[in-house]
Amino acid sequence: MTAGRIAVVGAGLAGLNAARLLWQAGADVRLYEARPRLGGRILTVGADGAPGAGFDLGPSWFWPDMQPEIAALVAELGLACRRQDEAGQMLFERHPQESPLRVRHPGGVASWRIAGGTGALVRALAALIPPDRIRLGAPVGGLRLAGDTVVLTLPEGEVRADHVILALPPRLIAQHLALDPAPPPDVRDLWRRTPTWMAPHAKFLAVYPRRFWREAGLSGGAQSLVGPLAEIHDATSSAGEAALFGFVGLAAARRHQMGEAAVIAACTAQLVRLFGPAAAAPQSVRLKDWAADALTATPGDLTDPCHPAPQAFALPAPWSDRVTLAGSETAPRDPGYLNGAVIAGQAAARRAAALCPV
Ligand SMILES: Cc1cc2nc3c(=O)[nH]c(=O)nc-3n(C[C@H](O)[C@H](O)[C@H](O)COP(=O)(O)OP(=O)(O)OC[C@H]3O[C@@H](n4cnc5c(N)ncnc54)[C@H](O)[C@@H]3O)c2cc1C
Repeated sequence: MTAGRIAVVGAGLAGLNAARLLWQAGADVRLYEARPRLGGRILTVGADGAPGAGFDLGPSWFWPDMQPEIAALVAELGLACRRQDEAGQMLFERHPQESPLRVRHPGGVASWRIAGGTGALVRALAALIPPDRIRLGAPVGGLRLAGDTVVLTLPEGEVRADHVILALPPRLIAQHLALDPAPPPDVRDLWRRTPTWMAPHAKFLAVYPRRFWREAGLSGGAQSLVGPLAEIHDATSSAGEAALFGFVGLAAARRHQMGEAAVIAACTAQLVRLFGPAAAAPQSVRLKDWAADALTATPGDLTDPCHPAPQAFALPAPWSDRVTLAGSETAPRDPGYLNGAVIAGQAAARRAAALCPV
């Protein structure tokens, strides 16, 4: 069976963008995704926790002033966006025995959110690729060079392609994909050393019947040295459903030890401490622990919360013209960010198209 001339592995932002660019350019492309859903680290859910428009459990923001590529993609796809709402004062929690300080927002470069959540980007890109070109629940376990083709190993058998775009974090490639012939040790070493951005983190979301913090002149933003949430923001959806979200400041091992229910209880108690008794009655809460998700985090990520630095990820012969890396972490600019995924996906699509002309 042929995978099409170009196979894209991983349907996060980088893989989706690469696949739709290739499809729009007339290429014979297929997209393989291990999860039963699209988006990778982009995960937007409704108040009921089901994937759909609403609240981001993965990335929420992009910064158009500094990131023209994602700004252009959002505009091309006709997606509405809005600034992160920071009206009101923010809180700063310094010590368990002190009341939180009310402070002005520091300002700075504006963060923007996509209406409906970042998942709107995933849905818009997926709509540009025919469904029969996308395989969900299809983890690629390895690549083997066979003459001029690459053989991809899937659970139910093998497929062949002329070129493969690996649109996933380098650490996941090192962890889950066997390459035959094996790349030189320094290549695998670079993959293992490249942290997957935000993989060690967890996000907590609490949906409320109203934005009660506004009634007290608060923006919903907070920073805390007490925890468990280190940073809190207003996550009210574009449909007006009130919500707060926070990044859990506890290490992945500590979260695992406590268990989900205890982490949720501690996060909710902190919101009550900061925002008052109305915070005690959320309509729903979610905890997404990315460190516990094997399709994002590897054991190396749990102790290494660093940001990836730009590196050269081109593979040497005999893989050089057969495989291109495209996960955000491989981007020459903004690696680890959504913008890095856009840049890496575009570059990989251009390269694959040049190597496999229609
Ligand atoms: C909590 C959190 C908050 C974040 N906040 C922001 C933010 O505000 N702004 C920002 O710019 N960035 C943010 N990021 C980073 C942003 O999410 C990533 O840069 C971006 O989504 C990466 O896209 P990607 O396509 O490169 O990788 P991924 O989204 O990781 O996609 C890789 C895909 O490959 C799939 N896959 C893995 N192994 C296999 C296999 N063997 N076979 C087939 N498929 C496989 C995965 O399931 C996944 O779908 C955040 C990330 C997290 C987790």
